[in-house]
Amino acid sequence: MSELIVDRYAVIGNPVAHSKSPAIHAEFARQTGQSLKYGRVLAPPDDFRATALRFRDEGGRGLNVTVPFKNDAFALATALTERARDAGAVNTLKFDHDEILGDNTDGAGLTRDLIHNLDFTFTHKRILLLGAGGAAQGVLFPLLREQPALLVIANRTPERAIALQRKTANRAVEARTFDALAGLTFDLVINATSAGLSDSALPIPRGIFAADALAYDMVYGRDTPFMQFARAENARVADGLGMLVEQAAESFFLWRGVRPETRPVIEKLRQ
Ligand code: NAP
Repeated sequence: MSELIVDRYAVIGNPVAHSKSPAIHAEFARQTGQSLKYGRVLAPPDDFRATALRFRDEGGRGLNVTVPFKNDAFALATALTERARDAGAVNTLKFDHDEILGDNTDGAGLTRDLIHNLDFTFTHKRILLLGAGGAAQGVLFPLLREQPALLVIANRTPERAIALQRKTANRAVEARTFDALAGLTFDLVINATSAGLSDSALPIPRGIFAADALAYDMVYGRDTPFMQFARAENARVADGLGMLVEQAAESFFLWRGVRPETRPVIEKLRQ
């Protein structure tokens, strides 16, 4: 009897044991009837390239890339999608014969979560993006594609916010220090810093949330000081679990050409 060949995918990172991606993709595969295996690959910090190529040479069809390898994955790709080029980082690799396609699905994941799951509309809205690291850079252009009225970037190291603002060459984008946010109000405040992971508060002035504002923390699975602050300021609060599932769905679509239902997966993970 011939052995059934099943397409293999994995999340690669360091650390990677905590990743929810295998559970998410297993659920997508079950739901769409796709036959695939999805695992975890722990790459040594200085050996991303060889580890990723070994996975490919052993028959792997694609990888999700997480911390700290998104720049290494960008360098490994032999072709890039426009959104990966905009982000300057890759979170999804697709292996197709000799081609290694690099994509970045983080921004699409965030905007899909905001629009489809949280009913946020961008028209005439004022957005504050906190942070200027990889995550902020990955979501910046997809947010601008939704054409908000204003997008302000604020970061602990102000030079990085200014560098991001210059990259956009868009007059709706401003870079400000945390202090210079006082007196402004926003309809959507996105925390793209990793401050919540260490339970650190951000120096955000009070009163920045407009009526009915949404506060979105990309961190998930914990109640961060940012979320607590936003709740105390009467903002609606969301964590990054929806973004995680939506960016995974974009990767799944790139690999398999089928778009899974995300809501049941988000609900299942919340339980
Ligand atoms: P990164 O490249 O290391 O950037 C970290 C950012 O956080 C920088 O802007 C840094 O400011 C800021 N920061 C860190 N600690 C801070 C503190 N105590 N106070 C103020 N600012 C602080 O990390 P990243 O890749 O952008 O990831 C950021 C967060 O997004 C992580 O928590 C990650 O888990 C999350 N994320 C979630 C998803 C999802 O699907 N939900 C996807 C991607 C990322 P400086 O520039 O001043 O250092």
